[in-house]
Amino acid sequence: MTASGAPVRVRIAPSPTGDPHVGTAYIALMNLVFARQRQGRFVLRIEDTDRSRFVAASEQMIFDALHWLGLDWDEGPDVGGPYGPYRQSERTELYRRKVEELLAAGRAYRCFCTPERLEEMRRAQMAAKLPPRYDRHCRGLSGEEARARVAAGTPFVVRLAVPESGATTFRDELRGDITFDHHQVDDQVLMKSDGYPTYHLANVVDDHEMRITDVIRAEEWISSTPKHVLLYQAFGWELPRFWHMPLLRNQDRSKISKRKNPVSLVYYRQAGFLPEAMVNYLGLLGGGMPAPSAEAKDAERFAFAEMVEKFQFERISLGGPVFDLEKLRWLNGVYLRRLTPEEFFAAVRGGPLADDYLRAICPLAQERIETLGQFFDLTDFFFRDEVLPPAETWVPKKRDAAAARKMVAQLAERLEAGDWTLEALDAALRALAAETDWSAKEVFMLLRAVATGKTASPPLLESLVVMGRARSLARLRGFLAAAK
Ligand code: GLU
Repeated sequence: MTASGAPVRVRIAPSPTGDPHVGTAYIALMNLVFARQRQGRFVLRIEDTDRSRFVAASEQMIFDALHWLGLDWDEGPDVGGPYGPYRQSERTELYRRKVEELLAAGRAYRCFCTPERLEEMRRAQMAAKLPPRYDRHCRGLSGEEARARVAAGTPFVVRLAVPESGATTFRDELRGDITFDHHQVDDQVLMKSDGYPTYHLANVVDDHEMRITDVIRAEEWISSTPKHVLLYQAFGWELPRFWHMPLLRNQDRSKISKRKNPVSLVYYRQAGFLPEAMVNYLGLLGGGMPAPSAEAKDAERFAFAEMVEKFQFERISLGGPVFDLEKLRWLNGVYLRRLTPEEFFAAVRGGPLADDYLRAICPLAQERIETLGQFFDLTDFFFRDEVLPPAETWVPKKRDAAAARKMVAQLAERLEAGDWTLEALDAALRALAAETDWSAKEVFMLLRAVATGKTASPPLLESLVVMGRARSLARLRGFLAAAK
């Protein structure tokens, strides 16, 4: 219960823009522990209003990854609940109504500035070393003028009218009061010209409508929070409590990123991490669990139930926990060793040697071997964690290692951005070759070496499709990290 007697309700609000992220699992775990400690409800809401970044398969991947980890929600798009729909694209009518309310109250205004004007403004601000910010050009338009432009069919966005002076202060439960001077806060777009809300508007409206009492999210949203607070005030709504969790970091303390760590949960599943070990590891980050005493050998190993019992949000340290893949591997090894032989056998058969995976690989091998004994000689790379090819196999003749590495980095970027189908991979490879002085053949050979560790393999692109996006890209990134 909260102080006002309302039952605790928390949520995660991932956007389906690609592979499910390890940070999403971390925040989901924090929310779930918080809810279970307080007999609260845990909601999953899909924030899919950014149509330019929408990836159709992503929502299901988020569901699958979180279920795999056992981070199950009480309400959500797939299980329903009293405050649905839980997918923002199905709530656009509500946001439109709310925007009208803000416009009528003078807390928001229509902006007709063209993308060209905004671009020019941004360029001038950058040249003058000013922070990029909307110059409020349209804020002074009369209601009449705005209506006339709407009637004439001029495209517009709706912006938040941030007070011109003063400041907004809110309480962060982990940090205390945080104040943002209004000069620092942009007149945020609330509704885009396509009629879809931005994150800020939809997030606030939904947190209110879904009776969220505690917003537990990553620290990167702190700078958005003053905008949210202004929105709550404009609507006259009670604020939730805000808990901004420290960001997971790479070893060099930068924000966790795919260049330095695998971040896709799909990768961790495919690479054979056990869900219990993942949850345990994520629970160690941030320091919410009691420090292990010197004599308690096994104290870093705990299950979700123990977290619910012992985790304290007040204990969280704000330094930003380093996501340490080596430690996660070590912990996973601890979990593997604790399996019974039968469980271990089942884990191998359900993981690296799962029927579905083998079934997809078999057709690639059938035409190319003479005895079944050669099966793994040909296909070993499908089952390995890492294949690091000797330099003579990946540096093409007439090129040097630096140029080849650069090409692998470009390949990783390109392939990451597109679909994971034969056609898309083929097109991406050929496009990259055409843009550089590399031949398509050279690019294929380099990719083959890096992805399979071999100079000859079953058809390369078919193999990549079977290995999957997460595993294939992890291999490219792993190569780049090792080939420094
Ligand atoms: N849609 C945001 C995200 O992708 C949600 C942030 C929040 O929790 O407010 O993380």
